[in-house]
Amino acid sequence: MQPLIIAIDGPAGAGKSTAAQKVAERLGLAYVDSGATYRAAALAVLEAGASPEDERAVSELVERADIGLETDGVRSQVLLGGRDVSAELRAPKVTLAAAKVSRLRSVREKMVALQRALGRGRGVVMEGRDIGTVVFPEAPLKIFLQADPTERARRRLLQERDEGRAASLEQTAYEIGRRDQLDAERKLSPLVAARDAIVIDSTKLDSEQVVEKIVSLARARNLI
Ligand code: C5P
Repeated sequence: MQPLIIAIDGPAGAGKSTAAQKVAERLGLAYVDSGATYRAAALAVLEAGASPEDERAVSELVERADIGLETDGVRSQVLLGGRDVSAELRAPKVTLAAAKVSRLRSVREKMVALQRALGRGRGVVMEGRDIGTVVFPEAPLKIFLQADPTERARRRLLQERDEGRAASLEQTAYEIGRRDQLDAERKLSPLVAARDAIVIDSTKLDSEQVVEKIVSLARARNLI
């Protein structure tokens, strides 16, 4: 039997992480946050004092960076040079830098290899932007989770406040919009729904309802 892979893609703030974690927990699968690998690449660049816009420096630094991703099924932990950097990855500076470095082919190739290696175990729910289109195009269940931009900004704001950052709704909406644009307009692996993805709009749903929909789809396809 092939390990079960559930791909959950979509823009920032659509509720991917919560849904992916809960689905993984319900189905006994590992949970992987693929965005964390791009964030770790961005952190390696920032820590070296290079600009995320400097393609040559980014390629060299990321190629050398020792990035590890471990998952215990509920949380993924990101290691940079063996050091747990999971908390540092959430800083707004890293968020924007991740969207910039993820445009480069060399960066994407290294991260995709890392992500594929994590899908080989006992089965995985992986969230990101290109999981259903590029990383696991053969995944038997692909979800594209979206929500209205204002709702996504509102949710992200709550998350940021939870994490101890004092952001405003305007600032958060601006940052999300900027990132959406970078992710949707890049040449390589842009943010698009796979042709065979099921689109779920979470604007009016809570996370339990989203999870229920995904689990029902897995059941209807005899995957669980
Ligand atoms: O999901 P998260 O917000 O942590 O992702 C950070 C950035 O990493 C995204 O804005 C995007 O540019 C990049 N990313 C990507 N492909 C993925 C996951 C994330 O390009 N599969």
